[in-house]
Amino acid sequence: MKHEDTQVDQVKKEGREKRKGGGLLRGDLLLLAGVLLFSLFFWVAVRLLSKEGSDLLVSVDGETRMTLPLDRNTEQVIETELGRNVIRIRNGSVTCEEADCPDKLCVKHHAIHREGETIICLPHKLVLEVKGR
Ligand SMILES: [Zn+2]
Repeated sequence: MKHEDTQVDQVKKEGREKRKGGGLLRGDLLLLAGVLLFSLFFWVAVRLLSKEGSDLLVSVDGETRMTLPLDRNTEQVIETELGRNVIRIRNGSVTCEEADCPDKLCVKHHAIHREGETIICLPHKLVLEVKGR
């Protein structure tokens, strides 16, 4: 009789441990779901807050050189005493196609099209900024 009791206790203990493990797993899933939900919310918020731009503002050393509409494909050469940059607008996206700056960071920069996005050529003091409507 005493022996059986211990066995029952053992089964109960195992059952409790299994339940505890299951609870942990559920907690992990909840956490994962929460993280996914948060990421989705964040992604949607970013999409909603960053609007498509309408114009490109080109400035050199803080001075506006030109404003170009993003809906017109064009290629412009910006030449200053500091250097030369070729900027291109294609299908609403802006890239710096060519530059004779030493770091070429502006050329390597991904295409920009959202309001507030910038491509900066530091050696040439050139700033390309997408403006909203
Ligand atoms: Zn550059």
